[in-house]
Amino acid sequence: MSKLFVISGSSGVGKGTVIKEFLKKHPDYKLSVSCTTRPKREGEIHGVNYFFLSPEEFKESVSNNDFLEWAEFSGNHYGTKKDFVQNCLNNNEDLILEIDTKGALNVKNLMPEAVLIFILPPSLEELEARLRGRHTESEEAIQKRLASIKTEIENSKKFDYKVINDTVENAVKQLENIMEKSA
Ligand code: 5GP
Repeated sequence: MSKLFVISGSSGVGKGTVIKEFLKKHPDYKLSVSCTTRPKREGEIHGVNYFFLSPEEFKESVSNNDFLEWAEFSGNHYGTKKDFVQNCLNNNEDLILEIDTKGALNVKNLMPEAVLIFILPPSLEELEARLRGRHTESEEAIQKRLASIKTEIENSKKFDYKVINDTVENAVKQLENIMEKSA
């Protein structure tokens, strides 16, 4: 039976890096490609990092009921297409969704068998420093992201597992343990 893992965490917590390292060691897991209306960052590729949609295209997908879940995050829309998830599970692939906490809890409601994992920073100060260190966002965008952190940490209480990202290596190990337990 293929498994669905949903990984969330505060912005800048390094979940992207942890997941990338995990996938390098475990290429048999597949990472879901979400849709978003946010502008492409340098180096990002349509269909690899995200499907970049216009607000109109996104709205159309919402009204066509194409999304398993979708959410607004920092002024942009993000969503997971139902057919993407279903195709992977039908192909017996273990799938990882990297989505925000609201989206994760919505997935859990629809698919209770999904395993929810929350990645936490070692401290809030560390998190703010990482967010600023990325130099990819404006001050306004950073403030918005920081504001959403409190809610996210509150929501994390409803997750199946928590992983503390003190070092990438440690976090990957914790993920491996969770995946093994859930197999
Ligand atoms: P970023 O803009 O940094 O790539 O992502 C911002 C937030 O959107 C992250 O917390 C990420 O996990 C979340 N996100 C990415 N794809 C989806 C999705 O399909 N659904 C939801 N609900 N959140 C998503």
